[in-house]
Amino acid sequence: MESHLSRKKLIVIGGGFAGLNLIQSLKRAPLDILLIDKRNHHLFQPLLYQVATATLSPRDICVAFRELCAKQQNTTVIMGEVVQIDKEERKVILGNGDSFDYDYLAIAVGSKHSYFGNDKWEAFAPGIKTITDALKIREHILTSFEKAERLDSLTETHKYLTFVIVGGGPTGVEFAGTIAELINKTMHKNFRRIRTERARVFLVEAFDRLLPPFDPKLSERTKLDLEKLGVTVLTNHAVTDITAEGVRLGETFIESKNVIWAAGNAIPAVVKTLGVEQDRQGRVLVEKDLSIPDHPEIFVLGDASHLKSKKGVPLPGVATVAVQQGRFLGALIKEELSKKHPPKHRHHGFKYFDKGSLATIGTGKAVCTIGKFNFTGLFAWFIWAFVHIAYLTSFRNRLSVTIEWTLHHLTGARSSRIIHSTIDEKLPKRETW
Ligand SMILES: Cc1cc2nc3c(=O)[nH]c(=O)nc-3n(C[C@H](O)[C@H](O)[C@H](O)COP(=O)(O)OP(=O)(O)OC[C@H]3O[C@@H](n4cnc5c(N)ncnc54)[C@H](O)[C@@H]3O)c2cc1C
Repeated sequence: MESHLSRKKLIVIGGGFAGLNLIQSLKRAPLDILLIDKRNHHLFQPLLYQVATATLSPRDICVAFRELCAKQQNTTVIMGEVVQIDKEERKVILGNGDSFDYDYLAIAVGSKHSYFGNDKWEAFAPGIKTITDALKIREHILTSFEKAERLDSLTETHKYLTFVIVGGGPTGVEFAGTIAELINKTMHKNFRRIRTERARVFLVEAFDRLLPPFDPKLSERTKLDLEKLGVTVLTNHAVTDITAEGVRLGETFIESKNVIWAAGNAIPAVVKTLGVEQDRQGRVLVEKDLSIPDHPEIFVLGDASHLKSKKGVPLPGVATVAVQQGRFLGALIKEELSKKHPPKHRHHGFKYFDKGSLATIGTGKAVCTIGKFNFTGLFAWFIWAFVHIAYLTSFRNRLSVTIEWTLHHLTGARSSRIIHSTIDEKLPKRETW
């Protein structure tokens, strides 16, 4: 039997879809794995907007890494942020100066939101990537309703009941549809004074249609479905400024205290320390086996990597790419450890199997493309719901999300509506109650 001292060491930075699938595919492999993540949990990002809109709670979409790796004897977990990678010394360095050496390194740090150089907008238009982001947005939305309930003036109330979502990709569409439903189905019943029919939801997209990667017919259907829910869709509108009072779109100004950013991606700064070529978003240009040039022991996978598809465009930053790349790299490392010749995975490289695209618009409404086929409406929504439940990381989460969705769809209730802070802002005094 191989002694632990001679075993190869794999460091995985980031336990998202790519990192976790890599680790799980090496369950019985004879090597030592160190997972380093700045958070203590794996997060199912595709359902984050449901935490932000009070349908699900954080524990429905997060699982602690220690729980996930408890039975995997070859894996150790460390919570910490990697700030530097020294590829010549084969070391990764954490924020507190700790360093760890490796034989193989997998960088799966995902992406963060980008404000296209206007970082000051972040204070007024939060983006959604982490559980902390989702909880902040939830707090903000729920508090806005409470403030509106306390105000007499219609002009003042209007600002708190106007929601602007920037970015017409799947996240923006899902957010806009869910906020419209939150207003019409839930808040409508729960508040005495505010007139929820006066609430407005705007979805702003700079491109000429929603869901740009989808078939144009599905973009049109999405727009119609959103409009039926009461969302105003503004395509061909670029944001020119965001302040505490609202959003400017060229000549137009939308007064709003609730702006959400669902556009633009950038890659975490640590990737820069690799000193290799990156694209405009910061994604690393990788070889066909996901390694970086001249370093066959370092791999970049998931959202942080740039690999071209058969059509010559970069693979999209979606969970299915990250999952397949994690499993591919696991198979490649297992093959190398077993010294199989010729090494098939290195030689053939990663091939993405596109299973289709999905986006939900609201309860019972979604759009979906599988191969050459497009689906809409309830059938597409069932596919969407099935896929999301199937991909959730633990049995407990699959069960709790199914229960929450069933209750929500039957009653319109949203169970996660706790506001943690108090209203300390001075509001105009109300005359009557
Ligand atoms: C709101 C939202 C909705 C989405 N909806 C969908 C969808 O419906 N369908 C779909 O296919 N995709 C969707 N995506 C995209 C999908 O979630 C990503 O493509 C996928 O998560 C990428 O996986 P990853 O492993 O590359 O990165 P991630 O899953 O982002 O994981 C990265 C991990 O790295 C850690 N990390 C980052 N930097 C460091 C560091 N310096 N040191 C240590 N750890 C670090 C992070 O804490 C995180 O755990 C959505 C994304 C978002 C944000």
